[in-house]
Parts: sequence; structure tokens; C-alpha cells
Amino acid sequence: MTGPSTPEQIRARLAALQEGDLPVHGGRTLAYVYDAGLAEVDALAREAVAAFAGSNGLDPTAFPSLLAMENELVAFARDLVDGPDTMVGTLTSGGTESCLLAVQGARDAHPDVISPSIVVPDTVHAAFHKAGHYFGVRVVVVPTGPDHRADADAMAAAIDDTTVLVVTSAPSYADGVVDPVPEIAAAAAARGVRCHVDACIGGWVLPYAARLGREVTPWTFAVEGVTSISTDLHKYAYAPKGASLLLHRDPALRRPQYFAHAGWPGYTMLNATMQSTRSGGPTAGAWATVQAIGDSGYLELAARALAATEAIAAGIAALDGLALVAAPDSTLVAAIADGPLDVFTVCDEMAVRGWFVQPQLSYGGRAPSLHVAISAATDPTAFLGALGDAVAAARSAGPVPVDPGVADLLRTLDPATLGDAEFDLLLAAGGLADGDGDLGLPERMAPVNALLDVAPPPLREAVLVAFLDRLARPFAPGT
Ligand SMILES: *Cc1c(COP(=O)(O)O)cnc(C)c1O
Repeated sequence: MTGPSTPEQIRARLAALQEGDLPVHGGRTLAYVYDAGLAEVDALAREAVAAFAGSNGLDPTAFPSLLAMENELVAFARDLVDGPDTMVGTLTSGGTESCLLAVQGARDAHPDVISPSIVVPDTVHAAFHKAGHYFGVRVVVVPTGPDHRADADAMAAAIDDTTVLVVTSAPSYADGVVDPVPEIAAAAAARGVRCHVDACIGGWVLPYAARLGREVTPWTFAVEGVTSISTDLHKYAYAPKGASLLLHRDPALRRPQYFAHAGWPGYTMLNATMQSTRSGGPTAGAWATVQAIGDSGYLELAARALAATEAIAAGIAALDGLALVAAPDSTLVAAIADGPLDVFTVCDEMAVRGWFVQPQLSYGGRAPSLHVAISAATDPTAFLGALGDAVAAARSAGPVPVDPGVADLLRTLDPATLGDAEFDLLLAAGGLADGDGDLGLPERMAPVNALLDVAPPPLREAVLVAFLDRLARPFAPGT
């Protein structure tokens, strides 16, 4: 234990800690953060976060400011999603919470269904698998076709008497394409089943893409049968982290989402979200951002991000060694190797050049890919210059060899049979721990990714959980 630090010491430590993080500005971090490139808006939003960080959205009668800001955010979003007059919404902590609540509400609207299920395309965000896990809802996964979009006929055929929700994406995170929402929503409606559109990442871009004259598959409440939509403020609304919206076509659809409990000696707990105490910071930060950018500002930012995306997609298509997974419908681009090139090494080589590009492991019959979410602040020419160099460097580095014996072992290991000692060995073998059990990320991630890529998904999950579990300890072993 140490005594109190001075403000100067604390600021210095915070700055030093932050030096190890990815930059949140500059448009070169192409996952996790979204940069409008508007320094003044950013500063204003941070001021708003700070001013309301101690306010509590738990009780809107005590903090009416937060309710007012939430209602104004929902009203702004209504225009984007063609919401009817009846549309209502809830501000959540993020996309995952919005998706979780969509599943929870759908489940609880049907207490009559004993073993509820949801029907999702295989490209659906992992948040829906998390929802299934948390809420005891079966997730029926329907394979997508060669175009990477949900297969409307197969989705319709998968609906049965236990289905409480059908999910579509606008667009899907991994591939960046919009599902055929009208066909799927119609099939769901015909069976009296709710249809959620996960527009967490496209919700603040696609409406502007349409207004800019681009062809966009209909996905909003204008599509009959769409009952709820999730759209993240902390992605392409460029708000500080911790803000997303879950929108419902009408209040009756939202009702099962509320939790109330009066059966204890304390205050009657009344929540619309998974949180109860809810910091006002993200609410005020999102509100300030949306006010400062406004509709015309978002139109301009979307035009910039979409133009950058088109340039980057065209550049990748023309680049020897990489191929697009699909032509992007929004601001996400995924690329695979076409020919002998290790995409994980390309990611490492981009990092060397100051760009964060997200590796995506192989899945089913799909090759591993690299993924970028392009912000308004991303300079496509600089990106493509770095990518060309990174591809050349990766090509001369050659493939990342995985020992065939190790590969066979990884393919057959059953994570359920592994104990701590085996995980320690695996982490050391993967380069995530040294011989003394000290953990850390190696300089180059390609060897780790190559090993993970060989492992089936359940083993990947188990190894990475073991890694995270060991990282999240307040004291290093032996201290
Ligand atoms: C980002 C994202 C989510 C999850 O959102 P978080 O804010 O990271 O919790 C869900 N669905 C899609 C399509 C996303 O892009």
C-alpha cells in the first residue's frame, strides 16, 4: 500500500500508461475506435462526459437532464431509421448490451415458449451468442451463401415454434455487407416472430449513404416486420465510449425489457437496461457529440468515410496478393490472401508502420482475413501506401510455419480435459508466456495467430480465456 499521490504524479502515471495504448485519434487505428477527426467536437464531448460522470441515470426523476438527453438522442436516431411516431428507444452502454436486451426482451415476451431460440446468420455478431449463453436461449445458426449475406430462404425455413427472434445485420461486422432484411423480416412477420436489425456499426452511416445516392438494401423501420434496431453512438456517431441505442417499433415491444422489483426493503428498482446505476457521462458525451456534429455534419463525415472505403476497397482489389472478401456496403473492408501471403504478417507489418488492422481467424471453410473499419479521419492514400509496403514485406518474410506435430495436437485437444498446467504450456508454446510464466504479447502476433488459426474455435476460446485470466491478476506471481 502507498499513500496518496500528488495530482502531478497521477497525471504523469496516466500519461505513461496511455503511451502503451493504441491511438484513438489520427484515423490509423482501424478497429475499436472511430475518429471523426474533429478535435473541437472531441474536446466538447469529453467536457460533457466529465461534467456528468457523477450523475446517475438510475432515477430519471432525480436526474431529469439525463432523461432529456436520452430522449433527444432517440429522436435524432428516429429520422435515421425511418422510425414511426410510435418508435421508442433506450440508451445502453454499448452494442453488446443493445443486442443482449433485444434477445432478453424477445425471450420474455414469450413466457409460453419453454425452450426459446433465435435464428441468426453465421455472420451475426458474437454478442448474440453471448445473449444465448446469458439468457438460456438456443442460437440456431444458418450458414450464409457465397455472397456472405444471410440466406433468406434458409433463415425462413429455420423458424419454428420455439423461435422468439430472427436477427439480421446492417452490415455484418466481419464481412461488411447488409443482409436481405426485407425478405427475412417478411418471413419473421408471417410467423409472428420479432425481427431485429443489428445496425450497431452501420446505423449512423447507411442512412447517409442512401442520401448520398448509394444503393443501400432497405433495413430500417420502413421495412415491414422489422421490430427493433440497434445502433451504436460510440461507433459512427463518433461519441465517446459507452453509448448505443436499442430502438423498438412501439412501446409494447419494449415492455418486457423493463425490470422492476419492489419486493425488498429498499427503493423500488426500475431499470430499462442491464445496468442500474448508470453514469451520466456517456449520455452527456453522446448528446454533446450529436448536437455538435448534427445532421449535415454526419452527412459530410459519412461522405468522407464512404469515399475512403471505396478508395481502399479499390486499392485492395488492385493489389497483388490480397482480394476483397466482398464489395463493402458500408465502411468495413475485409480482405483475404489471394496467393501465398500470410495476412497475419500483413497485420504485423501494418503495426510496424503505425496502422492497426484487425486480424480475423479462419472460420468454417473461410480463409483468415484482415479487417478495417474506416473512419472519416482515415487517409486512404496513406493507408494504401502502407498496405502495399506491408504486403511486400510479408511476402518476403514468407509463410509462418506451424510445426505439423503441434498442429495435429491443436486440432485434437479437447479444452474440457485441460488443466492449468496444460494451459501454461500452451501459452508458452504460443509465445504468450515465457518459460517463467511471465505473460505478455510478443512483438509479432503472426506466430500466435497462426497457431490459434489451426485450433478449432473451442480451443481458441479456452486458450485466450486462460491468457486473459492470467493477465487479470493484481499481483504478478511470486510478488
Ligand atoms: C460493434 C458491434 C457490436 C457490439 O458492440 P460493442 O459496442 O462492441 O459492444 C454488435 N454488432 C455489430 C454489428 C457490431 O459492429
